[in-house]
Amino acid sequence: MSETHAAERVSDSLLSCDSIEETPEARDHTQCASSEYQHLVHGGINASVDGIIITDARGVIQSVNSRFTLLTGYSAEESVGNRPGLLSSGRQSAGFYRTMWRTLLEQDYWQGEIWSRNKNGEVFPEWLTINAIRDASGQLQQFAAIFSDTTARKRQEVQIRRLVYCDDLTGLANRRLFLERLEQARAMAHRESRRMAVIVLDLDLFKRINCTLGHRVGDQVLSTIATRLQATVGEEESVARLGGDEFSVLVHQVESLDALGTLATQLIESICCPFEIHDSPLTLSASIGISVYPEHGESSEALLKHADTAVYRAKAAGRKQWRFYQPYMGQHNQQVLTLEQSLRRALDANELDVVYQPQATLKEGRLVGFEALLRWTDPVLGVVPPLQFIPLAEKLGLIDHIGRWVLDRVCSQLHAWRHLPRVPVAINVSALQLNDERFVDEVERCLARYSLPPELIELELTESCLIPNAEVVHKVLQRLRERRIRLLLDDFGTGYSSLSYLRRLPISVLKIDASFIRELPGNYEDGELVSAILSMAKALGLEVIAEGLETDAQADFLRTLGCGVAQGFWLAPPLNVPSATDWLMR
Ligand code: C2E
Ligand code: MG
Ligand code: MG
Repeated sequence: MSETHAAERVSDSLLSCDSIEETPEARDHTQCASSEYQHLVHGGINASVDGIIITDARGVIQSVNSRFTLLTGYSAEESVGNRPGLLSSGRQSAGFYRTMWRTLLEQDYWQGEIWSRNKNGEVFPEWLTINAIRDASGQLQQFAAIFSDTTARKRQEVQIRRLVYCDDLTGLANRRLFLERLEQARAMAHRESRRMAVIVLDLDLFKRINCTLGHRVGDQVLSTIATRLQATVGEEESVARLGGDEFSVLVHQVESLDALGTLATQLIESICCPFEIHDSPLTLSASIGISVYPEHGESSEALLKHADTAVYRAKAAGRKQWRFYQPYMGQHNQQVLTLEQSLRRALDANELDVVYQPQATLKEGRLVGFEALLRWTDPVLGVVPPLQFIPLAEKLGLIDHIGRWVLDRVCSQLHAWRHLPRVPVAINVSALQLNDERFVDEVERCLARYSLPPELIELELTESCLIPNAEVVHKVLQRLRERRIRLLLDDFGTGYSSLSYLRRLPISVLKIDASFIRELPGNYEDGELVSAILSMAKALGLEVIAEGLETDAQADFLRTLGCGVAQGFWLAPPLNVPSATDWLMR
């Protein structure tokens, strides 16, 4: 059999999809064909759903199969004698074809994806395998091309891409896609020597919504937020959900820092607009951090990290605001870290202490009680004020431990003072302590341990204590009251609780916040306010303590208004145990 004839037989076999090993001629041919060719033969036959083209050594089409006609629209008559360029889509460059031919001639094999155009002019992606067919002497005889339409697979790829790169809930880009886009945007800004920015947005107190209204509502809110954010930034900028209640916007073109600030304000406003949940309005807010390339970071990682740090600062500054990253913010984080390590150590090393600030009548200066105030002196950091480390202790989950320690310390001091005139000591408690019913038992156990009557300790709580988990807190307060432990409402006037709400609580004493006392008697409004609080307290049968009393003039003024008891530097600063003992003996 001549070689051409053998090749024709192969072509026929390829086109007819018969098993080639079943004919002796074909077996002959497989002996002289390359191993890739054998592969092609098997593949071609077994995968009859593929289109097949056989050309001569010059690339002129000799035959095509019926699948080819189905995929391209060209009949065998229209194709034979033509070149495969018939299908050219124009999408591949001349360079692409040069490389393809070089590979094909060197390795007798080429495989890859190309775009083709069918007879109707539609472009489609195809997966193409071309084999060169040589005779026994190595002379090029033919090319066999097998291709499949990969449109379906492409669609699948898009679907997979969506699964991998999309946030299910909101349809926004997810963190992975965001990071890729961020890197692209950063690289482009670098090439073009211009700025780009990362905005990170975190919802304020979103956990509350999840906890109180359920995850379904939480999800609904997140979806709505996604829509609002996208609408605010427009289609050009990419919005992503980084996870949980954290979103991000990439700003590719930064016109000015002012413009970024304006955008951040608009984003916050879009979130503050009330949501309709079960026919009732729900309001939310968000905090934003912004980092700008290149001033706030040279790499994607640094930009994202710094935007995160800035969000943290925006939250610490009272939420519902935006901040640009500032280099000192990193230092702040470092400081917090140092503080955390030191605080944990201080607890073990017993570096905490309690001081006692007298509370006395304004008329006679008679001592009626003390407030216990926590002190921490770190060997390296020096004196750390409670307003700095108590919020940190709350965040780290150390406040229970600290609270128990203070309670025990005060009770043991009261026990030590048992032979002196007895006055109560007020202890500050944090919201988190009141959120746990076991707190009541702890107080009782501590009183029992030192054989103290319950009247000797009082608890100071702030209005912020009353919000988190109202039911548990109410129960705890009620139980404490039943055990004859008096409750003081600290920093009164700075919260927003309504009077009718406060009336329902078992509170005995209002402590007027120092900020209302500070500018007395000069500040008329503050004077009116203090006067109103005093008459209101009287009507409700509550006692009042004025906090932060510093001057004679303030003392006179409060006395004329009928304020009974005060606390402040005018009387005494917080005292160590020996000085407090002196006060008791006076
Ligand atoms: P607070 O309960 O309102 O305590 C009063 C604060 O005012 C104390 O600050 C006290 O030293 C200060 N002070 C007293 N008299 C004057 C005055 O005449 N002028 C001025 N300018 N300030 C005065 P301190 O000790 O720094 O405590 C700050 C806050 O830390 C307390 O506010 C309380 O909320 C919290 N705190 C203190 N000790 C504890 C504790 O053991 N547990 C908890 N959970 N919180 C505590
Ligand atoms: Mg207090
Ligand atoms: Mg106070």
